[in-house]
Amino acid sequence: MDKNIRICIVGGGPAGLSAGMYLEKKGYTNYTILERLDRVGGKCWSPYYNGRRYEMGAIMGVPSYYAVHDVEEFCGITHDGPKLNRNYKDAAGNVIEPFEPKKNILKIPRLLKMKKQVKKLGELLETKYKGYDLNGHRGVSEGRYEGFSQTSAKREPVSGVNPNLKDLALPFSEFCKLNGVELIQDIWIGPFTSFGYGYFDEIPAAYVLKYLDFQTCMNFVKINLWTWKDGTQSIWESLNDHLKNPARLNSHIEKVERKDGKVYVTVNGEVEEYDKIIVTAPLYIPNKRDDGQIGMVDYFDAREDEKSLFSKIDYERYDVLACETKPEDHPEISYYVFDNMVPQKLGRLMVYYRRWKDTKDQVITTYALRKHKDRNEIDYDVCKKMVLNDLKTMKNPASNVVNEWSVYYFPHVFSEDYAAGWYEKVEAMQGKYDTYYAGEVMSFGDMDETAEYSRELVERFF
Ligand SMILES: Cc1cc2nc3c(=O)[nH]c(=O)nc-3n(C[C@H](O)[C@H](O)[C@H](O)COP(=O)(O)OP(=O)(O)OC[C@H]3O[C@@H](n4cnc5c(N)ncnc54)[C@H](O)[C@@H]3O)c2cc1C
Repeated sequence: MDKNIRICIVGGGPAGLSAGMYLEKKGYTNYTILERLDRVGGKCWSPYYNGRRYEMGAIMGVPSYYAVHDVEEFCGITHDGPKLNRNYKDAAGNVIEPFEPKKNILKIPRLLKMKKQVKKLGELLETKYKGYDLNGHRGVSEGRYEGFSQTSAKREPVSGVNPNLKDLALPFSEFCKLNGVELIQDIWIGPFTSFGYGYFDEIPAAYVLKYLDFQTCMNFVKINLWTWKDGTQSIWESLNDHLKNPARLNSHIEKVERKDGKVYVTVNGEVEEYDKIIVTAPLYIPNKRDDGQIGMVDYFDAREDEKSLFSKIDYERYDVLACETKPEDHPEISYYVFDNMVPQKLGRLMVYYRRWKDTKDQVITTYALRKHKDRNEIDYDVCKKMVLNDLKTMKNPASNVVNEWSVYYFPHVFSEDYAAGWYEKVEAMQGKYDTYYAGEVMSFGDMDETAEYSRELVERFF
């Protein structure tokens, strides 16, 4: 492709900014990143509280975050944040140690069985499900894998045929049952459901395992995690500062028209002409949102195939509160509440996070999900009330809520559409209307998977 082509990138989050970085590395400098907000980072949002930054969005990474590492190298920064740690409470607020055999004598047989099943899953993923952990979902529903290895920093191209991969379209709980590893869900659930990615009876195994591949899940178990002192937003701010063309903030895109091999973008009242467009912003949002975000199908001259495919996308209603506590009520560590990570407990507090060890002068952040595909969605205010009540039950009551948001989170498709080849159809559309689709739905809703997908997109098409 001609290195001088004009490329418009919609969205200044991890996917959009890293698309800019990888394009630049490949010699394309004529790109423009349009961001609707007055800041970059998207769901990496790290506001200030008394001079220090806390996390309203993304918090952590793991050593296999190779694309985030590329960004760190590009900018000369590193993961210099506080070391994370956590304990567990039951729904009544008692501290528990669910994985400690000595504290759970009656559960020893289950714990032993769980350990065996973790080992078994590790072996199955290496053999029966070879190719399961590649970035993106190309070929999975057809029993193929194609992409770049994610298990080493070298990221060699790999591809192959493996009909077993079709099982990844099943909801994760069914996938575990099929393979006789049901108990591993007790471990995988912590960094999955409480991180807002939905419930195992509704989310296809592909999403669970591509994000929580064996290596990544073990990093969570061993708390071998990365954080950033100035928050995850600072990674993307730094990248933005280092790009030849930093994102244009406060860009309101009114219309995108694609005709005669050109892309016309009406932004803040002016029409701009491009040759190609990469969309990292939401493709489809099924409901009206208070934050004004809409899907690309609503401001693009969307074609029938775009409309019908993207209308299958759903997303999680994931709510975050940042709360002050009185010093005497401040938690001494972060807590996971496994009891509340089941669909029957929609809207309840699943985890709360204390960032700094050395001070009580900080907010704690709480996390709740309030939607499941087969249940009624819980109203935002009802959920907020339940979470604040739960904090009281946990004996860490909030004295004040200083920040809150309900995030457009983890766009995904459900098993039926996954199995029917949703990803194959969307991948086949890449470039068709001079348009490329990237961002969370194309891979998975975390910083690294989205940045990695942008890397591959540039590698494949530019
Ligand atoms: C509470 C929470 C906790 C998380 N924890 C982690 C974690 O610990 N580790 C991790 O790796 N990830 C975590 N994530 C997920 C991670 O933040 C996202 O997956 C990642 O930010 C996705 O990057 P993206 O660029 O695809 O999308 P986004 O970050 O959503 O960025 C999209 C950008 O597009 C902009 N935009 C939207 N519409 C338009 C438009 N019409 N025109 C122009 N711009 C537009 C948005 O304003 C935004 O800046 C967390 C997220 C949240 C909310």
